[in-house]
Amino acid sequence: MALTPLSEALERILATVEIKPDWEMVVLEAAPSRYCAETIDATLSVPPADNSAMDGYAVASRDVPGALTISQRVPAGHAPVPLEAGTAARIFTGAEIPAGADAIILQEDAEAGAGQVTLPAAQPGQHIRRRGSDIQPGDELVAAGHRLTPQDIGLLASAGLYAVPVFRPLNVAVLTTGDELREPGSGDLDPGQIFNSNRFSLAAQIRVLGMNVIDCGNLPDDPDQIGEALERAAAEADCIVTAGGVSVGEEDHVKSQIEQRGALDLWKLAIKPGKPLAFGQVAGTPIFGLPGNPVSAFITFALVATPWLVKRQGGQPSPMQRFPVRAAFSITRPGTREEFLRVRLTGSGEALRASLTGSQSSGVMTSLSEADGLAVIAPGTTVAEGDWVEVMPLWAL
Ligand code: AMP
Ligand code: MG
Repeated sequence: MALTPLSEALERILATVEIKPDWEMVVLEAAPSRYCAETIDATLSVPPADNSAMDGYAVASRDVPGALTISQRVPAGHAPVPLEAGTAARIFTGAEIPAGADAIILQEDAEAGAGQVTLPAAQPGQHIRRRGSDIQPGDELVAAGHRLTPQDIGLLASAGLYAVPVFRPLNVAVLTTGDELREPGSGDLDPGQIFNSNRFSLAAQIRVLGMNVIDCGNLPDDPDQIGEALERAAAEADCIVTAGGVSVGEEDHVKSQIEQRGALDLWKLAIKPGKPLAFGQVAGTPIFGLPGNPVSAFITFALVATPWLVKRQGGQPSPMQRFPVRAAFSITRPGTREEFLRVRLTGSGEALRASLTGSQSSGVMTSLSEADGLAVIAPGTTVAEGDWVEVMPLWAL
């Protein structure tokens, strides 16, 4: 089978997303990481009134320089009265500007005496935050499909919103396979066993996307048990993610069970790590069959399953940004697949460098955990130290 470039596979897989999820209103406290179901526009001005950016004195700029009587004191949160002509108001950061004042003079620049203050000249408008200078009624606050960050939550609150329409989180089933896998916490390893890591890393990747995990545990390499578990998962979940059992070995039953109980496209992606990927459906529920090697499972989930899930969730898939960084490593033998190398970023500015974190084997988790990003090396290319390479930050995956 020919290798399929990632971009082509992604385009075809993303084209299968049709359904929009249901939505619900949630209070802001429950909204972080949820996907906004509608574009939200402001109905108010922020700030709602002109206010002082500093502690100092509010004056009419034509009255200074000079010594002025202090006619009122305006702390934040207290309504001022109109400024008496030819006087100054003592004012504090965030307090509303009295009508008739058009400038704030910093307290550091003032010489305060008993009941009066000597002030320097002022420009009209200085140190005043204007009504509506942040947000005007009708301004877009967040777009439909945007995943709400803590910053967005603060923005919405500042505009007086207390609840937002968000899509109901998808339920994503995670199922791992392998006779050799033992669950951490279930005792010591017997000969031939390793700990199940994919069940945890995949569940964590799903949770970070703001979606619910249906944990189907691990299944032995037994076709019937795998098939039955897939059907149970299909009945409950919006999407199933499996790890292991999709390559060409005799014990790779996930692939054949998807074929028997639904339909499957098997991809040999032109990426390294992560070549085999199954995508199809079981009883109508979409399924990603990821490779078993932990780094391959992580990377194929991030590069292929994540954009699909985000789109299915009603979200805007974030552009997978790549930043040019100079390589502190070399690749002398050109590869046949697009390669994603685990790199650490060190230095800053001109001295920023990407260096390999260690073994690039698809089973080695230490070098993935230590990585800040993945350097993307196109097929057929070599890299010399100091060359520019494109790095996808791992925080964006
Ligand atoms: P497979 O795709 O099932 O042939 O697995 C490929 C490699 O990944 C084998 O070395 C497996 O032991 C390993 N592997 C598969 N699933 C897991 C898992 N859930 N956690 C850790 N290693 C795994
Ligand atoms: Mg296996």
